[in-house]
Amino acid sequence: MGKTFMPKIRTERELKQIQLEGLQWTVNHVYKNSEFYRKRFDEAGVKPKQIHSLKDIAKLPFTTSKDLQEGYPFPLRSSPFEKIVRIHASSGTTGKRKVLCYTQKDINDWANMFARCYEIAGLTTKDRVQIAVGYGVWTAGVGFQLGVERLGAMAIPIGPGNIDMQCQFLEDFQSTVLCSTASMGILMAEEVEKRGLREKIALKKLIMGSERSSDAQRKKMRELLGVEHVFDIPGLTELYGPGTGLDCIYHEGIHYWADYYILEILNPETLQPVPPGEIGEMVITTLRKEAAPLVRYRARDLTKMIPKRCSCGSILPMHDRLLGRSDDMFIIRAVNIYPGQVDHILSNTQGVGSEYQIHLDRKEDGKDYMTIKVERREGGNSAEDPALAIIIEEAIKKQILVSGKVVIVDYGTLPRSERKSKRVFDNRGV
Ligand code: ZN
Repeated sequence: MGKTFMPKIRTERELKQIQLEGLQWTVNHVYKNSEFYRKRFDEAGVKPKQIHSLKDIAKLPFTTSKDLQEGYPFPLRSSPFEKIVRIHASSGTTGKRKVLCYTQKDINDWANMFARCYEIAGLTTKDRVQIAVGYGVWTAGVGFQLGVERLGAMAIPIGPGNIDMQCQFLEDFQSTVLCSTASMGILMAEEVEKRGLREKIALKKLIMGSERSSDAQRKKMRELLGVEHVFDIPGLTELYGPGTGLDCIYHEGIHYWADYYILEILNPETLQPVPPGEIGEMVITTLRKEAAPLVRYRARDLTKMIPKRCSCGSILPMHDRLLGRSDDMFIIRAVNIYPGQVDHILSNTQGVGSEYQIHLDRKEDGKDYMTIKVERREGGNSAEDPALAIIIEEAIKKQILVSGKVVIVDYGTLPRSERKSKRVFDNRGV
């Protein structure tokens, strides 16, 4: 392969030097050019010249999604409008949308990062990439497309939904890569199976964005579509969009582009670093972003570092798949639970499908109850349901330290969605 988008970094020391330079550039840039950050730094009593080492990042104040909402319409803006070439916004389910500005350099950096994702996934200029994620003001479609074009592969910008057309394109254009949400990937896998298309398509890789996919979902997609690899692409509008890291073909963790941003994993309560390998909240500081830089931005996504070198030998560090959001965490009987924990147990249980729902109810005795509805695997025997339910109930009790009732339902009875599937139904009122 000719051009590479991987950084020419050979040692951790070199990487740290790049991070320190980027951190110092960022704090100077925002202090000089953003009223918001200058005020925040002054309140915290920190000046850019006090940042001498990477450890000094702990002196910097945090930024939150609330800051972005309060700064609407152009929060964190650190470049003049004449240098801003584009905006993107989050879909914004609550309150105001988060809007992020980009300079041309930011767009170029994003394209390079995304091309790096495709490169690490083993794509070449010969690949044909069917982009079945949404196009619009949010960062998805346009980001996936930028990266394809930067790499030099062929983009097929179809957008989400429209299953008939998706199937037709897979067959007619011989797409080798499909980019979609995990739910859409499952839908496509079932559809290709149903229509008997598997031998007529050329799909080799799936890149799943914007939603966690479970091990069970990935296995199903691999089997039904006959693909070699399913990749999970993390994406955060505040941090350019999707494309800021990807697992490689060894699938030992998500390599993240540590030459573009610093990732801290902190305890969401104490805001202190968790020991390497423990779950915490992702806190992000960008190193080159001009228009809307992030300084210790609390992403609310939960994950953990994978404190080892990947089998591929890359110097780029790895974090685990996202285990949900600290906001999605629910409390039942004084235990904090992340849907990702339930997901993990189900993924490692034989005999269940990929779909599940968690229902929380408060009964007349005043106590809270958790019911987990899980689909039996396709073609599974309903006579085995009681035994299966007990296995899952015991695993939940042992691993999450809370009791839940497991109800096994028929395969295909829980709703599928082309967008994100709702997992937690909290019926406990206020
Ligand atoms: Zn690797």
